[in-house]
Amino acid sequence: AAEPFASEAPIVLSMQDIHHAYGRHTAVAGINLTVRQGEVVCLLGPSGCGKTTLLRIVAGLEVLQRGHVEINGRPLGQPHVPPEHRNVGLAFQESALFPHLSVLENVTFGLASLPARQRRARAMELLALLGMEDYAGSYPHTLSGGQQQRVALARALAPEPGLMLLDEPFSSLDARLRDRIRDDTLHVLKKLGAGALLVTHDPEEAMFMADRIALMREGHVVQMGTPRELYCEPVDPFVVTFFDTVNELTGEVRGGRVATPVGEVAAPALAEGERARVMIRPEALRVEALAKPPTTTHSHVIMAKLLGRASLLHICAHGADGQEAHLHARVPGVFLPEEGQPVAISLDASQVFVFPAGTRAAHG
Ligand code: ATP
Repeated sequence: AAEPFASEAPIVLSMQDIHHAYGRHTAVAGINLTVRQGEVVCLLGPSGCGKTTLLRIVAGLEVLQRGHVEINGRPLGQPHVPPEHRNVGLAFQESALFPHLSVLENVTFGLASLPARQRRARAMELLALLGMEDYAGSYPHTLSGGQQQRVALARALAPEPGLMLLDEPFSSLDARLRDRIRDDTLHVLKKLGAGALLVTHDPEEAMFMADRIALMREGHVVQMGTPRELYCEPVDPFVVTFFDTVNELTGEVRGGRVATPVGEVAAPALAEGERARVMIRPEALRVEALAKPPTTTHSHVIMAKLLGRASLLHICAHGADGQEAHLHARVPGVFLPEEGQPVAISLDASQVFVFPAGTRAAHG
C-alpha cells in the first residue's frame, strides 16, 4: 500500500517569491510554494492564470526572472540549470514518444546510467504498474492516445526523478479512460514516493489527485490547502464559484445573521448592518415535497431534471417575510416532482458561505 503523505517529509521543491513576465505582461506575481517528498500538489485555476508558466520555471524551460527555486535543496536559478540536469520528470499533454523506438526502448531511453539488464527490468516494472507490459514490443503509432500517454508517463517516471511535473497529462483522454489513468498515475506516484506538481484546470481532478491544492487566479495563489480546506473553508467567493455554480443572494446582517427566503444564515465575520453576499451550494438545499399545499404562500418546484446520480430542481422559494428567490437545488437520486409541487426547503449550513457584498477575490 502507498505510504500516506507525511507533512514532515523532506522538501523536494521550494519556490519563493516567483515573478514572471512575458514582455510587459505579468504572468505570475509573488508565488511561494513547496512540495514534499511523496506529496502531490496541484496548481489549479482558470485558463491564463499562470499555472503552466510556473511549471515551466520549475522545469527550467523558462529562465527564472525573479525569486528563488530549489529542487532537493539545490538552487536552480542563477546560474540557470538546464532541464536535463534538474532531476525532474516531465509529463506534458503533448509529450511525444520517439516514433522509431518501441515502447520498451522509449521507457529505457532515460536510463543510460544503468546496466542494460537493470534498465529493462526497471522499464518493465513501470510498464506493468501502468498496465502496459503487454505492449513492450509495440511501436507508438500502433497505440491508442491513452496508451501512448501511459508510456509517456512510464518514461518520465523510470529514472525515479525526485520531482514529477505534470501539465494537464490526462486532458486528451475521454472521460472513462481519464478516470482510470488518473487512478493508475496516482497509484504509481504514491508507490514511488516522488513529489509531484500537477497542473489542471479541472477542480475534480485536483480534488482527486492532490494532497494540497494551490488555487490560482491572475498570477496569484488565492488559497492553498487540502481539497477539504478549499471546498469546506473557502477564503473568498472566487474559491466557492471555482468548484461549483452556486445560488447567490444578498442581504443585510441583523443580529449576526442574514435572512434569506430559505432561512437565516450566520454571518459571524461580518459587521452589524453590513451588506452580505450569501453563496448557497445547490447541495445545501434540502427539498421535501409537501403532501398538501399550506394555506400561506409556499415554495414550489418550477422544473426538475434528472442528471444521473442526482436530480436538479429549479425552485421558487418563498420566505416567511415575503422574500422570494429562484434557486437551484441538487438532490441525490431520482427526485422529479411535478411543476408547481409545493415543497419545504431547509439549509445545510456547512454548504453556505457568507462574504461581505462587493468582495470579488483576495487579489482583486
Ligand atoms: P492554460 O490553462 O490556458 O494553459 P495557464 O494557467 O497555464 O493557462 P500560462 O500558460 O502560464 O497560463 O499563461 C499565463 C499568462 O501568460 C497568460 O496570460 C498567457 O497569455 C501569457 N503567456 C504565456 N506564455 C506566453 C508567451 N510565451 N509569451 C507571451 N505571453 C505568454
